Amino acid sequence: MANGICVYAENYNGKIEPVTAELISAAHSIKETTGEPVQVIVAGEKCEALVDQLKQSGADEVYAVKTDRDCAFQDDALSQVIADMLKKIDPSSVLVPATPMGRSIFSRVAVKLNCGLTADCTELLVAKREDGTYYIKQNKPSFGENVFVTIVTKEGYYPQMMTVRPGVYTPYEGEGSAEVTYFDDIALPASKVEVVGAVPAEAETDSILAAEVVVVGGRGAEEPESFALLKAFADKIGAAIGGTRPLADTGQIPFQNQIGQTGFTIRPKICISLGVSGAIQHTEGIKDTKLMVAINTDENAPIYNIADYGIAADLNEVLKAYLEL
Ligand code: FAD
Repeated sequence: MANGICVYAENYNGKIEPVTAELISAAHSIKETTGEPVQVIVAGEKCEALVDQLKQSGADEVYAVKTDRDCAFQDDALSQVIADMLKKIDPSSVLVPATPMGRSIFSRVAVKLNCGLTADCTELLVAKREDGTYYIKQNKPSFGENVFVTIVTKEGYYPQMMTVRPGVYTPYEGEGSAEVTYFDDIALPASKVEVVGAVPAEAETDSILAAEVVVVGGRGAEEPESFALLKAFADKIGAAIGGTRPLADTGQIPFQNQIGQTGFTIRPKICISLGVSGAIQHTEGIKDTKLMVAINTDENAPIYNIADYGIAADLNEVLKAYLEL
């Protein structure tokens, strides 16, 4: 019978991607109810080094395949290795980062295993059937991010496989010594993909996810003059810029910088919120901020319920005064 919550350890250039620790957190929250072991799977040419990084990650079990060449971006071949691993491990669920790599590899794995794949989950909850078995409620924004839906894998189909949006779970901090198993009988097949070069990624999304200080603009800051002031302010204090959904809808900020239930979750040290009302769909994405400052003309705006400090004033006047304009 399928057993285990299995996390895919995405890796690049011999390093495990930080999102793996977030998925291990998600796996532990499932384990609290189901009692299943937390498993991690990894495959790569520098496999021993990857396994070393995973041993103390908080997983109960690590499963590994050492490939005879670097297989980054050879998703046709790597997906076969992973499908073979999952057939042997037989987990009840597989958690995959909702990254370009995770999506590309696991859509192929899902076909090979004839199971479903829920994309881009922002919340995983465990529920119990009448017969006592557990299943995962895979919650995600859908229909152009306009509704929040719950997807459930059809009963009897395993593994329940889902990609999880980076930034939603806090990285796992517990330790533990995982039991390691190498599958020596799984080989990397030939690939139709030849990698001719690699271009470093632009770090736009990283900058908001990793920033210690973030200035968040809302509809109150959407006029070009107000937004220019917001930008000058963020520049001056060295902050990244995020925004509410209306600002992403109008294109003032890229979608990657939208904060909230259908955007991204950030955990900066300081968040300064300008002209944001504080709708729950937005505040879900900033609730772990350590220090929250809000400026809003409406002293009854819900943003003040989560702010540590507030200024009930016109943001244009406050910013002009600060910038001495
Ligand atoms: P508003 O609610 O219009 O608030 C603007 C605020 O600015 C007001 O409080 C006003 O008093 C203040 N203001 C105006 N002028 C000034 C001024 N000169 N100085 C100071 N203050 C001023 N929203 C998100 O942000 N992220 C999401 O991920 C998200 N997902 C959603 C998912 C679903 C399924 C749905 C239905 C909605 C979602 N939303 C999301 C939208 C959300 O419900 C709110 O509509 C949105 O967050 C409101 O954005 P806002 O605060 O910028 O605008």
